[in-house]
Amino acid sequence: MKNLNELIRPDLQDIKPYSSARDEFEGEASIFLDANENPFENGVNRYPDPLQRKLKERIGDIKGVSVNQLFLGNGSDECIDLLFRLFCVPGKDRVSAISPSYGMYSVSAKINNIELNEILLNEDFSLPVDQIIESSKGSKLLFICSPNNPTANSFEVGDMLRIAREFEGIVVIDEAYIDFSDQPSLSKFIQEQSNLVISQTLSKAYGMAGIRLGLMIASTELIGWVNKVKPPYNINLLTQNFALQKLQHIGQTEKEILLIKEERSRLEKFLNAESRILNVYPSDANFILIRVEGADDLYDYLIKKGVVVRNRSKQPLCSNTLRLTVGTPEENNKLMEFINTYFS
Ligand SMILES: *Cc1c(COP(=O)(O)O)cnc(C)c1O
Repeated sequence: MKNLNELIRPDLQDIKPYSSARDEFEGEASIFLDANENPFENGVNRYPDPLQRKLKERIGDIKGVSVNQLFLGNGSDECIDLLFRLFCVPGKDRVSAISPSYGMYSVSAKINNIELNEILLNEDFSLPVDQIIESSKGSKLLFICSPNNPTANSFEVGDMLRIAREFEGIVVIDEAYIDFSDQPSLSKFIQEQSNLVISQTLSKAYGMAGIRLGLMIASTELIGWVNKVKPPYNINLLTQNFALQKLQHIGQTEKEILLIKEERSRLEKFLNAESRILNVYPSDANFILIRVEGADDLYDYLIKKGVVVRNRSKQPLCSNTLRLTVGTPEENNKLMEFINTYFS
């Protein structure tokens, strides 16, 4: 990779981050008259910790990384957007991403006026490693989602590391579904491979989509730069407190993940046994992609039954596909019953 400072937007090199009252004084005091807050206590009248240190310590423990290697965003969406802002000059730079994949890469590219180079996966949804290395040359960022949404497969750790070694810019590995995967996170490589950014979220396995908490794991230098361009209080107090509280009961989350994986196997078995489903793609996530003739008809039928799945048929390589999220056992029973009656 290039030197990190060479990759940062030239006009941001000398940025002085906004300095809040909470940044300038963080010791013990009994009277806080520095932030123009309403002094009457109601639980939320004070600004939250701008760097979310308590929460980062807890998440760092769980993920096996230090506080300085962690960035928390208002959902992964904010993390992705901040990477665009930090590294890409609007109207000039370019980024690459695999395709089909998560829709936010292209939306964020568009909003930031950055050209997106989409690199098609192989027909079997595997990673075209050489082609990615070739085609992503000159890009500032490269997005690889693993396990990938919507194809549900993970990519080889060795392949992703090889790409990161050859790529001059920043490689973002989107691990939103890593907690359902049999493969390990790439987070243990962030110091030796300093152009790696690992993106994760509490929205999926951790059951907290509603509080909007995404995270990035990267070298302390890279995280330091993201901190300079983030909105001062990007994680609100309610989110910080709720996440801290919920992460005390990590055992419950682990149980849920196990059950979801069991249910995934059960659904896969059922779908594989249905001869009119052409393809059930092996899943390393909490959803299953199926290919079925007349996917639109099955989609409409399920809607009539009150079950909404995601029709991915318009995505590249995904004609006639539906993406089925693994639900509770009862919900999955219903889904299977409706698919049975649809085909009978
Ligand atoms: C769901 C999902 C996310 C999570 O986004 P949040 O903004 O954190 O809720 C990120 N990446 C992918 C690929 C996803 O499918």
